[in-house]
Amino acid sequence: MNLKDTKPGIIKTCQVCNSKNVYQVLDLGYSGLCDSLLNKNQLKKKEKNYPLKLMRCKKCQLLQLNYVVDNQKVFHKQYPYKSGITKTLKDLLQSTGKYCVKNFTFTKKPLAIDIGSNDGTLLEGFKKLNFQVLGVEPTNISKIANKKGIKTLQKFFEKDAINHIKANYKKADVISGTNIFAHVNKLDTFMKGVRSLINPKTGIFVTESHYAVNIVDQMQFDSIYHEHLRFFLLKPLILLLKSYGFKVIDASKIPNYAGSIRIAATLNQKIKTKTSVNKILKEERRKGFYKNEKYKNFSKKVKKVKKNLIDLLWHLKQKKKKIVGVGCPGRSITLLSYCNITDKIIDYIAEQKTSLKLNMYTPTTHIKIIDEKNMMRKQPDYALVLSWHYGKAVMKNLKKKGYKGKFILPLPYPKIVK
Ligand SMILES: [Zn+2]
Repeated sequence: MNLKDTKPGIIKTCQVCNSKNVYQVLDLGYSGLCDSLLNKNQLKKKEKNYPLKLMRCKKCQLLQLNYVVDNQKVFHKQYPYKSGITKTLKDLLQSTGKYCVKNFTFTKKPLAIDIGSNDGTLLEGFKKLNFQVLGVEPTNISKIANKKGIKTLQKFFEKDAINHIKANYKKADVISGTNIFAHVNKLDTFMKGVRSLINPKTGIFVTESHYAVNIVDQMQFDSIYHEHLRFFLLKPLILLLKSYGFKVIDASKIPNYAGSIRIAATLNQKIKTKTSVNKILKEERRKGFYKNEKYKNFSKKVKKVKKNLIDLLWHLKQKKKKIVGVGCPGRSITLLSYCNITDKIIDYIAEQKTSLKLNMYTPTTHIKIIDEKNMMRKQPDYALVLSWHYGKAVMKNLKKKGYKGKFILPLPYPKIVK
């Protein structure tokens, strides 16, 4: 069975198994695109907000959005996210190369292709391990990669790029994609492309996805936004790959993006599947992830967190406390808009001075993003930690830089930390 590429607009059927047995788990309201920040002029203009609902397929257990925004709009050329920005993330991304070399055997002078390669951080890991590398990245971030010496095609991974690679490179030993199954609209084009470029005998397709178990059990509903069209358990991942002739031979849980699942797949049916795969499938079943009840509870908890967080912030505001946000990851946009936290509550969001987001405003909630040195000077009473999934590190770092106020961790449950 092959899938259809998803067209922009409302989606009614499951994107992995085509089932119509899809129902709503969460309604997160309407939100602007999290990496389309606004400048001062855009603030005055009418803004485009899109519906944001989480749906679940009862047949294959895929979680997906109810609405697809055109890829060209989401990953516009000025897309501000740069993956090499923190040391932790850099190390995690570069672990993909180490994982491949440790677990699989490749041809001489192996070739690794990373799709959605951003600034080339992941491929730097492969390069250190003597791989020839090639990135595919549609946004201007690809220029940073090329400057660093990581050869990168500035294109979407579609017909053009695929034909170019076919004509100029040997079959790939490794094709990798971080969060790619969450991001691409055109799953069918993508899978056919990977299948045509990979070495059919020894090639390994390794992909990492934000894991639905972590999203649900750790209340990471803020990672639901328009860039992420789908959220995966292992079960639908296996089904998706199987539809294109791939066999999943290994699966492991990794800490990337606060809980991801890494899988390795091959076209070579003779390679044995490791026990890890069955172990994780069993665990998903045992934890109730194939049952409706799990998602009913999740939905209840999300609504409760929203209420508690708003109550907490307004209570502080009534006591005339100054509150700012710290860190502005993509996921903060969902949290802010869903909980209706606007510039009436938060004075500004502080980001490190190297951030590409400085002096822009959050979509929908219109909070200005400024250099964190202002925060150090003015010492607001509370800092709402929007990168709460790296909460400990963020708080430690800000204290080191001289912040003396209190912190609010919004999730998994709102709490004040002194
Ligand atoms: Zn399905």
